[in-house]
Amino acid sequence: MIQITLPLGFLGTVYREIRQALVDMGQMFGLLAQPAEVKDKPGAPELKVGGGEVVFDSVQFGYDPERIILKGISLTVAAGETVALVGPSGSGKSTIGRLLFRFYDVNAGAVRIDGQDLRDVTQDSLHARIGVVPQDTVLFNDTVFYNIAYGRPDASREEVEAAARAAKIHDFIQGLPEGYETKVGERGLKLSGGEKQRVGIARTLLKNPPILLLDEATSALDTQTERDIQDSLKEMGQGRTVITIAHRLSTIADADRIVVLEEGRIIEEGRHDALLAQGGRYAAMWARQSSEEEEEAA
Ligand code: ADP
Ligand code: MG
Repeated sequence: MIQITLPLGFLGTVYREIRQALVDMGQMFGLLAQPAEVKDKPGAPELKVGGGEVVFDSVQFGYDPERIILKGISLTVAAGETVALVGPSGSGKSTIGRLLFRFYDVNAGAVRIDGQDLRDVTQDSLHARIGVVPQDTVLFNDTVFYNIAYGRPDASREEVEAAARAAKIHDFIQGLPEGYETKVGERGLKLSGGEKQRVGIARTLLKNPPILLLDEATSALDTQTERDIQDSLKEMGQGRTVITIAHRLSTIADADRIVVLEEGRIIEEGRHDALLAQGGRYAAMWARQSSEEEEEAA
């Protein structure tokens, strides 16, 4: 009996981890299947993260070699820095996120974390050190507890509650019919978009990654909920390296640095005020979004 249940239990854990990786990334990247061409080098060591400096060094990349998407991206995100990527749809923002996960290998140049080329370390260790909050957090048909803890199945009740408190969802969970044991998801209690994002934040806090990637994490929410969740995301970003992809510019105006992409190239970068003063592409995007927001409010 034990000989059978042990391996099955082990497989369950592996399956959960694989499923988690696929769900997080599938959600974030809008992909259903993970491309299989990227493999660990034999005997590759684990990624060792100190401060969490992220470097894109003259990166060129195309999903199809005939069509280059990123045309020489050089970008250093210092340890602990928050950098926002903005630019029109299709300019390559999410592609940069996919390369940070080494979902694909670059065609030229390199992506490095704390000096280690992503091609030289194991993918498991890379994925363990990067937290993702996608546009829409996926919930499993299971308990709230499971949904927060599944990234770290060994987490204790206390750790899960602490993460939920920090994500400001603990009180809401306590008020549910069965608290942390309440079933959620398609076949259980349906949570609102903001509640789901808070579960996602709690999940990520529990994982405690030194590097965070937020891909339009609040773009599906209404304005007030977006503001509330943005505050929690900002708190989560303290002491971590953050790359945030933004739809609404008002959510990233206080980033340490804003990087403007267009057709796979960086065309402007700087702080919000400096970019406005420059009167270039960012200033034009800002003016357009501000007038749209006024129209919406009117
Ligand atoms: P953004 O996030 O800035 O909107 P993306 O990085 O998602 O842009 O996409 C950049 C370009 O790459 C787009 O032209 C898009 O069509 C293309 N692209 C994105 N994903 C894939 C894919 N899986 N296969 C082929 N082309 C893709
Ligand atoms: Mg995108």
